[in-house]
Amino acid sequence: MKAEIISIGTELLLGEITDTNAPFLAAELPALGIDLHWISQVGDNQARLVKVLKRAWQRSDLILTTGGLGPTADDITREAIAEVLEERLKGDPALERELREFFARLAREMPLTNLKQATIIPAAQAIPNPSGTAPGWWVERDERIIVAMPGPPGEMQPMWHEAVLPRLRHRTGGTIIVSKTLKTFGLAEARVAEMVAPQLSSANPTLGVYAKADGIHLRLTAKAQSQEEAEAMIAQVEARLNQVLGKHIWGAGDDTLEAVVGRWLLERKLSLAVMESYTGGLLAATVSGCPEAAPYFKGGLVTGSDEARVACGVDYRLIAEHGGEGAEIAPAMAEAARSRLGAAVGVGITGVDEPGTVAAKTFGTYHIGVVTGRQRRLVTGSYPGDRARVRRWAVAAALFELSKVLAD
Ligand code: ATP
Ligand code: MG
Repeated sequence: MKAEIISIGTELLLGEITDTNAPFLAAELPALGIDLHWISQVGDNQARLVKVLKRAWQRSDLILTTGGLGPTADDITREAIAEVLEERLKGDPALERELREFFARLAREMPLTNLKQATIIPAAQAIPNPSGTAPGWWVERDERIIVAMPGPPGEMQPMWHEAVLPRLRHRTGGTIIVSKTLKTFGLAEARVAEMVAPQLSSANPTLGVYAKADGIHLRLTAKAQSQEEAEAMIAQVEARLNQVLGKHIWGAGDDTLEAVVGRWLLERKLSLAVMESYTGGLLAATVSGCPEAAPYFKGGLVTGSDEARVACGVDYRLIAEHGGEGAEIAPAMAEAARSRLGAAVGVGITGVDEPGTVAAKTFGTYHIGVVTGRQRRLVTGSYPGDRARVRRWAVAAALFELSKVLAD
């Protein structure tokens, strides 16, 4: 089933409100096995809405609209659908009775304009609206479905859950889609794609490879008749990916590198301290951004000069020999942070992040040291792009290295 969403309302086009209905519906469709192909926004103008609806009628099996079901003259969704299907709007006595009862419950007189909401076309069935006056429409003709729902999310969402979703589920014969994202670090996108080439060509589950700020993500999507079946299909490919990508996989789903590191630290009852010059405190900010960081995060030292590095405990002879941006300085910074702040694990980051000061080819080069009671690791890497991107990448690289050390 090919679906399309149309959000209706001039307020959307004026930038006065943000369309949250379309993303809500878009997120609901995958689990139904319905493929969403288009989202459009159109104002409260009948001619333009008719155009958009005609186009949708030609190219989609399922058209979901929100908005324009109210009682006022600018609410024209019903009229537009009637025009597209060349059907006549007629007052429906049962709908009118329900509308009058709604107003009676609120002890309010019903404005005559509301009668418009009690009109319907032969191809449509009314969908009850427990939270407002505008009934929705379920329109079915020529093997196509239009579902018209009210604009206010507080009315649209209950209508979706109570009436529309169950009906669509029945329709789609229970096909469901399950997705899972695996997250890797340390391999280039093209290299990952090469390593998982057999899985990339599979039709079900499908596999997508995406470059993100914290590494390369792999998204597995399985279509099946039941949740269990889809999950089993994903588990099978996931096992294969685990074999191929091994230690490069650091997490899945909503995992973040800092949360993964945090879990390891808590589990191993270890504490962490960092010293950073290259990333100017971004590593400390990222680690301490986890709500559960207090028990393990001892603190961070930010240094911007050799004097500061020495003042924080890095041996001045080492700096004299290698320079403050040298590779050997990173583990020394990690060691100094560890002993100064009394932590079990120390991380140090230094590197060349100023284009003007060093030869262009070394710009973006970073060194990361991870030191524990048993291990001392140094990784050097580089990343293209502007300062902000390079810094974020170095933080991700540091957290990834730390996660590997902790997992050992
Ligand atoms: P009403 O009976 O309230 O007039 P309606 O179905 O005619 O409902 P609209 O008039 O199009 O809906 O929109 C009413 C309100 O609903 C808007 O002012 C806005 O607050 C909210 N709304 C409408 N469409 C959207 C949307 N796509 N995303 C988020 N909110 C929306
Ligand atoms: Mg309205």
